[in-house]
Amino acid sequence: MTRIIWQLIKDKLIKPYLDVDLQYYDLHVQNRDKTDDKVTVDAANAILKYGVGVKCATITPDADRVKEYNLKKAWPSPNGTIRSILDGTVFRKPIIVKNVPPAVRSWKKPIIIGRHAYGDIYKAVDCVVPGAGKAELIFTPEKGDKITLLVHEFKGPGVLMGMHNTDKSIRSFAQACINYALSEKVDLWFGAKDTISKKYHAHFKDVFQQEVDKRKDDIAKAGITYRYMLIDDAVAQIMKHEGGMLWACMNYDGDVMSDMVASGFGSLGLMTSVLVSPDGKYEYEAAHGTVKRHYYEHLKGNPTSTNSTASIFAWTGALAKRGELDNTPELVDFAHKIEESVIECIEGGIMTKDLTRICEPPMEKSFSTEGFIDAVAKKLESKLK
Ligand code: NAP
Ligand code: MG
Repeated sequence: MTRIIWQLIKDKLIKPYLDVDLQYYDLHVQNRDKTDDKVTVDAANAILKYGVGVKCATITPDADRVKEYNLKKAWPSPNGTIRSILDGTVFRKPIIVKNVPPAVRSWKKPIIIGRHAYGDIYKAVDCVVPGAGKAELIFTPEKGDKITLLVHEFKGPGVLMGMHNTDKSIRSFAQACINYALSEKVDLWFGAKDTISKKYHAHFKDVFQQEVDKRKDDIAKAGITYRYMLIDDAVAQIMKHEGGMLWACMNYDGDVMSDMVASGFGSLGLMTSVLVSPDGKYEYEAAHGTVKRHYYEHLKGNPTSTNSTASIFAWTGALAKRGELDNTPELVDFAHKIEESVIECIEGGIMTKDLTRICEPPMEKSFSTEGFIDAVAKKLESKLK
């Protein structure tokens, strides 16, 4: 469904107004299959080369999709591939509209989640322990003595896991968060559990602090602050805060908390996502997937009402960044005009079905996928006159 939205955005909001030399990489699952996934690598390298990219949601094929699209194999997640090439951190930011109130009363400004996207339980080895025995953690260095730690003397069955992270990855996560907070001029929070995890989490805290110290002049100049807090304290504070900060999270916390923040702000259709590399390359996208259920309705010939807001904001985020890097303020201004058009439509009652149920007051009429984009295009046209 997002592929259909993508084409509509380009045709109705971008191409009529911009003479833009788009380098296009077709990440359709069948094209990835045809190119043995080379196109994904090429796309990521293009982002490295040009500095800014905008990506449509993509299918990460499972066994059903392999059958449906007659694929050679279940190709890996394109986002995973691009993320590892850019060595980036993912930031998710909700789009605030006045008539879609957040579930949490105090939230007034976006809460941006910066999720460390490498390691911990996502690159762990684990097993079910069948019965009594001794579990040990052994590190064999290239040079020097082995380190052996007793994990547990099992008296009976249980479970066991070994996980890791690297200084390089933690450091680039911290750098990306600091860069993002500086570019958005928002306070930076980082939460972990160093009171319990005195080596693992404490190391995250220390590395993060070292990177913050290196940039302390920039941080002061931008008028923003950095706070480390215990993760449970951060969670409690978030619920009472008005928002407007970047909340840097370890991998698991970011996975879970970004879903809480997304649903707390209303709809997946209102959540944007940007991947930022430590050396300042940007890839913008919507935080949601391809909206498969709606696509199957579309294929049956049924009308759809899919929210294109996050996809449009992916485009405007990329265009505004391009304008900022190239020093073309007209482009930045144009991107903001598109964003204003979207917000004014929604606040004026022109919205898709996901929002009609949760907006205040609830709306009777919802717009179709195309009808919403047409309304945005009309509003934009009037702004550009
Ligand atoms: P999804 O596309 O995020 O959609 C899940 C549900 O959320 C939809 O069925 C819809 O709910 C609602 N929704 C999400 N975005 C919406 C929007 N813009 N407007 C209105 N409603 C919206 O997740 P999925 O259906 O589980 O995944 C589909 C495919 O996307 C999978 O192949 C997955 O691999 C891929 N995916 C890609 C990315 C990415 O490229 N970044 C991220 C996640 C998933 P209702 O059905 O209730 O209307
Ligand atoms: Mg999650």
